Amino acid sequence: MKTIVSLEEMQQSALRWRREGKRIGLVPTMGSLHEGHLSLIQRCREQVDIVVVSVFVNPIQFGPQEDLAGYPRDLERDALLAGKAGADYVFAPTAQEMYPPDFVSLVRVEKLTEGLCGAARPGHFQGVTTVVAKLFNLVQPDVAVFGAKDYQQATVIRRMVRDLAFPVEIVVAPIVREGNGLAKSSRNQYLSHEERAEALILYQSLRFAESLIRGGERQAADIKASMTEMIDSVEQSRIDYIEIVHPETLEPVEEITGDVVIALAVFIGKTRLIDNLMVHVASSS
Ligand code: AMP
Repeated sequence: MKTIVSLEEMQQSALRWRREGKRIGLVPTMGSLHEGHLSLIQRCREQVDIVVVSVFVNPIQFGPQEDLAGYPRDLERDALLAGKAGADYVFAPTAQEMYPPDFVSLVRVEKLTEGLCGAARPGHFQGVTTVVAKLFNLVQPDVAVFGAKDYQQATVIRRMVRDLAFPVEIVVAPIVREGNGLAKSSRNQYLSHEERAEALILYQSLRFAESLIRGGERQAADIKASMTEMIDSVEQSRIDYIEIVHPETLEPVEEITGDVVIALAVFIGKTRLIDNLMVHVASSS
């Protein structure tokens, strides 16, 4: 396991691997690795010769009121865990080198970034697509693995890759959860013991919505109302959004006639958590 910090060393190494005919895989992360990240690394390992895990808390995807300064960082631990999961390199650039003072180039994906998390976090996805595009140029991956936990992000990246013809295959791996259903997240560290128990309401409400659909409910507004009632009953919760959307366009669905993604963002105390569930519905029903 080797850690690369310099952009030049990263890109030169990647170009050399390519010349040698090696397949490169990239797993972009903000560090503070947990089992969700490790599952992406394992998945990547199966598909390529060289696995690079980037660890970079990307300042331009955080809003001014968000948790950039307090975001958990522990590069030594991350490198150890990434290596155990099968990574060959950790790429941990500095923000100064990634974004010199005269940096002015941004990648923006429209429409898909307007709803869901994009509505409450203006500029967030532009920060994500810009850093991912730059990471693709630095690491030259054949395959990049993202998690379904950030469903909108994965959809936006897929579209960016298609629209701008990046020569990379995007793999989206399933959400890793704790035994009680809570989606693993670096931000779970912010939760108190009590809040952790309250945070279970996110997944519970998603499963409840799924059961309503399985029972024949097709009106998105009614399902969202039931979820809202359920989440509002938890004292420390504050709903940012609950949406039922088309899996590819991310457009809100009124009547459910095919597969949908139910997505939500909820504050538990001061911590904003996201989760989602894909529900497969036969389009004839
Ligand atoms: P982050 O470090 O939060 O930016 O996440 C890096 C990558 O890990 C993203 O592609 C996330 O979707 C993915 N990820 C985060 N949590 C999970 C999880 N619980 N299960 C699967 N993938 C995850």
